[in-house]
Amino acid sequence: MTNSIAILGSTGSIGTQAIEVAKKHNIRVTALAANTNVNELVSQARELHPELLCIADESKYSALKEAAAGLGCRLLAGMDGLCEIAQHTTTGTLLNSVVGMVGLLPTLTAIQANKPIALANKETLVAGGALVMDSAAQHGVPIYPIDSEHSAIFQCLQGNDRKQLKKIILTASGGPFFGKTKADLQNTTVAEALNHPNWSMGSKITIDSATLMNKGLEFIEARWLFDLKPEQIEIVVHRQSVLHSAVVYDDESVIGQMGVPDMKIPIQYALLYPERMPCPTKPLSLTDYGTLTFAKPDYDTFDCLTTCIRSSQIGGTAPVIANGANEAAVAAFLAGKISFLRIGELVSASVDSLPIQALTCYEDVTKADAAARQFVADNI
Ligand code: MG
Repeated sequence: MTNSIAILGSTGSIGTQAIEVAKKHNIRVTALAANTNVNELVSQARELHPELLCIADESKYSALKEAAAGLGCRLLAGMDGLCEIAQHTTTGTLLNSVVGMVGLLPTLTAIQANKPIALANKETLVAGGALVMDSAAQHGVPIYPIDSEHSAIFQCLQGNDRKQLKKIILTASGGPFFGKTKADLQNTTVAEALNHPNWSMGSKITIDSATLMNKGLEFIEARWLFDLKPEQIEIVVHRQSVLHSAVVYDDESVIGQMGVPDMKIPIQYALLYPERMPCPTKPLSLTDYGTLTFAKPDYDTFDCLTTCIRSSQIGGTAPVIANGANEAAVAAFLAGKISFLRIGELVSASVDSLPIQALTCYEDVTKADAAARQFVADNI
């Protein structure tokens, strides 16, 4: 287990819960970074006394300087600041919970500095999976997944022979629009899409859950984390979010991980691995749930999910394009510029229309990402 962490994305949903876990288990917080929320960041710093404090949005740097005066933290801004935190010498583990492709470079930087990664930023592996996993293997750096599904799979792999793994079952809540058709979703509002049944999360990931893009990203993430072929990943809709995912071994034994839907459990497992200690959450009562249900995903309605699986099969920069188009399309939807269904259309069209190349370096990722965002800008 780690004795100190730096948190990128500290004011978000995962970041604030990670702070709770760190406080409970006396894990020192050496650095904090937020995207734009200066006030919350400074109030966290007042309590935790980190050495470094970073605001990713550089236009907020002077506000940070003013608000953090006298706190004794070194103040940083922008991508340079995030990367400085990633390689900060007194940090044990980097917890990366920023939103979007912006998380990739800090992850790569931390791996090069031999820092274990607690990873909640799924776009890191979606966009740069090959680069990240190669670099982690080279440096012998472990990546502990925080996403509940990937934590479940990681937990189910403990104590078994990885070579005897047949496939994984990635569970999906189905989001707020389970059972709906495209015709039903024609006039979906932002408020409806932001209303998730089980998990309370930031707005980008909540929209991704409504489009099932989130499950598509997790499909690609799982492929890299656990070195799987796309055909070894089965997605199953499980409305109650109690079985967080499962693995199937060659003897057809299915081993799953269950718990209440509370991110503190996977966050704690990533930070305390391999220890299991009391967690500040509700115990799971199976009899309170009574019934757990399982269903096939609706691939006709949810274009984002289908496109992610397709892009994972294509490989190269295809997942980068799907992810970049989605980030731009979700921002446009939240800004009221496009309809809900248009997100999936744009993600799918970007993979069909843009050239797909091999992915060998970070620049390949940023180029494909920029092309995908431009494609969305040109088509809304
Ligand atoms: Mg998840």
